Amino acid sequence: MSPLDLRSQGLTVQNIKHNLGPARLYEEAIRAEADTVIANSGALIAYSGTKTGRSPKDKRVVRHPGSAQDVWWGSVNVAIEGSTFQIAKERAIDYLNTRTSLYVVDAFAGWDPEYRVKVRVICARPYHALFMHTMLIRPTLDELETFGEPDAWIINAGQFPANRHTTGMTSKTSVELNLETREMVILGTEYAGEMKKGVFTMMNYFMPRRGVLSMHCSATADRETGQSSVLFGLSGTGKTTLSADPKRELIGDDEHCWTDKGIFNIEGGCYAKAIDLTPEAEPDIFSALRFGAVLENVVYSEYDHAVDFANDSITQNTRGAYPIEFIQNARIPCVAGHPTDVIFLTCDAFGILPPVSRLTPEQAMYHFISGYTAKVAGTEVGVTEPEATFSPCFGGPFMVWHPGKYAELLAQRMAQHKVAAWLVNTGWSGGSHGVGSRIKLGLTRAIIDAIHSGALRSAPTTPDPQFGILAVTQCPEVPSEILVPSNTWANKTQFDDTARRLAGLFRDNFKTYASGVSAEVRAAGPS
Ligand code: ATP
Ligand code: MN
Repeated sequence: MSPLDLRSQGLTVQNIKHNLGPARLYEEAIRAEADTVIANSGALIAYSGTKTGRSPKDKRVVRHPGSAQDVWWGSVNVAIEGSTFQIAKERAIDYLNTRTSLYVVDAFAGWDPEYRVKVRVICARPYHALFMHTMLIRPTLDELETFGEPDAWIINAGQFPANRHTTGMTSKTSVELNLETREMVILGTEYAGEMKKGVFTMMNYFMPRRGVLSMHCSATADRETGQSSVLFGLSGTGKTTLSADPKRELIGDDEHCWTDKGIFNIEGGCYAKAIDLTPEAEPDIFSALRFGAVLENVVYSEYDHAVDFANDSITQNTRGAYPIEFIQNARIPCVAGHPTDVIFLTCDAFGILPPVSRLTPEQAMYHFISGYTAKVAGTEVGVTEPEATFSPCFGGPFMVWHPGKYAELLAQRMAQHKVAAWLVNTGWSGGSHGVGSRIKLGLTRAIIDAIHSGALRSAPTTPDPQFGILAVTQCPEVPSEILVPSNTWANKTQFDDTARRLAGLFRDNFKTYASGVSAEVRAAGPS
């Protein structure tokens, strides 16, 4: 391949390391960074520095006449002027020009060739290059030869801070998106996940413009029929964990699109939470963390580089990134037929929502727009009160259009393909966090199996008194006692109080969206 010339981007660094494979990037990472090592499993252990999670409050989008009408402006998409973007980009380029070498990764987003996007990542850390080599779709050598001009750019100067006195910037971190030039510039955060969600954000703009629904979900397919099932959910609800399912083919763990032909994965890798990972509970993910995978912000033994997955002293958000083909039953290419089931995952730390409920189309829209999950607040002794999170489309921070746009595309497709909708609580049972306990992973897996086998389509149900959704009361391999939450609480008054309070939170949250939906959807929420 001829040497890459990036002078048109203002980059003057001579030594550009273009499309290095994992072995080369391992070498580079270990030589360049004293704290980067190889785990005894073969994965590369790297550290992202101060930021160990995304920085949604520092995301900015250029307001341009070409797209201004399309964008859902507000706290998710904070507008900046083109000139502010230029300042950030130049600062990033100036920083990158101080490096003796740079890494460039050319790869694809989107497994369907009709919608495939050519992405070029420019960065200074070999670990960032390996991360994106892993997470994007790796082109063949032939495809690299003919790659040509990229469709989208990620310019990552995360080691260098933004200038918070710049108009529109409020901290030393800045993640800026220009939809016109299809560029993303990163300053002041080295959290690698920022890049993958940057690609997703761009897809969330460009795909709906072509009538395609982009979704924050994992997906699996039936081996025989090739039909799929998608699992929506906010962070920590189980998308990645539940999609690593030996009974099904894995399509992807986080970002998909639904076209007239079926679904396709946007990515070429998975990005799993690694906290408390065990080979017993999650064998497929555990064994995927081998040579070629990146382990982020984990603690390991100095003696043999064995990873201590239970150690959260750096962060609770430890992660492992691996190429999707490291999961044995991944389906390559990662495309599948239309979904038979749409599953909304919620980790309800209040312990109120049933483990599995069947939703009407209106209830499905109500819950899609609400995007509910709950976080466990604080780790101080005695603080057990969960905190509700509502994030439209189960991925608010990555949406570019108004949530109504995605909801409309989803409703239309679900109706056309007669898709069943389910709400699955992967959170608490027997009381709120602090009193009850999280539903066992094995039971949630049994629920997902029963959805896929069709067993729950005709299973008996009972309406939830607060939420009106139909709680399934009989599910193979799951004790019936746990399927109706009120039965699992020792204190019934407390259950009723908590349920009423949670329903109130749903109603308050939905007010923002009520005017944009039909009366039927508005009425599909808690009474
Ligand atoms: P992100 O969007 O941040 O990638 P995610 O939806 O992919 O989040 P997972 O990585 O699947 O979330 O995280 C779910 C976590 O919860 C895992 O660590 C898993 O082991 C744990 N867990 C515990 N109980 C359950 C359960 N019943 N169902 C699903 N996951 C569970
Ligand atoms: Mn995930």
